[in-house]
Amino acid sequence: MKYVVCVPDGCADEPVDELGGRTPLEVAATPVLDALAARGEVGRAAVIPDGMPPGSDVGNMAIFGYDPATFHTGRAPIEAAALGLKLRPDQLAYRCNLVTVGADGTMVDFAGGHPSSEDAHVVIAALQEELGGDGIEFHPGVEYRHILVTPADWADADCTPPHDLSDKPVIWPSGPAAPKVQQLMDASRAVVGASNLAANQVWLWGQGFQPQMPSFSSLYGIDAALSSAVDLVRGLGVLTDIEVVDVEGMSAGYDTDYAAQRECALDTLGDGADLFIIHIEATDEAGHAGDVAEKVRALENWDREVLADLVPGLDALGDWRLLLLPDHATPLRLKTHTADPVPYLLVDSKVDGPGGVYSEVGVAGHEARPGHTLMARLLGA
Ligand SMILES: [Zn+2]
Repeated sequence: MKYVVCVPDGCADEPVDELGGRTPLEVAATPVLDALAARGEVGRAAVIPDGMPPGSDVGNMAIFGYDPATFHTGRAPIEAAALGLKLRPDQLAYRCNLVTVGADGTMVDFAGGHPSSEDAHVVIAALQEELGGDGIEFHPGVEYRHILVTPADWADADCTPPHDLSDKPVIWPSGPAAPKVQQLMDASRAVVGASNLAANQVWLWGQGFQPQMPSFSSLYGIDAALSSAVDLVRGLGVLTDIEVVDVEGMSAGYDTDYAAQRECALDTLGDGADLFIIHIEATDEAGHAGDVAEKVRALENWDREVLADLVPGLDALGDWRLLLLPDHATPLRLKTHTADPVPYLLVDSKVDGPGGVYSEVGVAGHEARPGHTLMARLLGA
């Protein structure tokens, strides 16, 4: 039996005025997805447990079959894992954004003018030179997104994600460890401000200890692999010993090569992997941009470039099961994530389900299942 998990990030939505009160999932022309839903099982998945932040780290952890309420410690340690950092128990990882804060204390740009990784790495190296040491380590990541490793006693601070502060007065950290965090952010201004970036300081948030996650194979007894252009998802793979496969042409943007990820999944399964996770960011990106047409187009790309040839490819490998669901909703109206349950689809190549329609409305009457339980349901465990 081969298993595929398809994750169109943030694809779930709300009725959209521009679409005549329908959702992108309802409007997109997805004949293959529709046919799979008609022979499978649809339902609702609570991918974000009650009270947890509706992030891709939480939602994908649930999709991978790990209860976020047990295993999630923060977003930064997952991104640190994606950079290949292994944290000791006495170390903590913070997400370290390069940001632009206005003279009036407004968060002008949580992405610090989107520097190139190359330009940003020069600044991160300078920060390490000037402010590193004594357990403080700056690690270069991608573009404006970097990692700071600190001693364990920096853990107890309430830090606001900078993207939640766009065009608003910043909210400085609070809590027992806040003075240390604040002092470093303040000290970073001399270094970042002296660079040629639009950013003028670092912003620290999302901290956590390295989550202690059992390997996927020890938990579920099969070997898994994944492809994703997103650090968080790749980091979850590192933490769970799921093989992270690089795919040429894969990106976190609209122009990502969908077909290349499909082919990679089929090749990897053909080479012996039991389960493959295909994660594609474009639907989430469109949600954040409030771009109705791109969200619909991304779903149609999934259907035409991934699912249409995935199904016969899987048939050629033998029996298979498929699970499809997003890690959270990213409604176009809100341009950000919500914690609402999302529609899921489960298909077995040999056993027909009750059939249904894969959309928010199509599953509205179903009770939400905890998202992390769907992996066991997929595997028939
Ligand atoms: Zn998102």
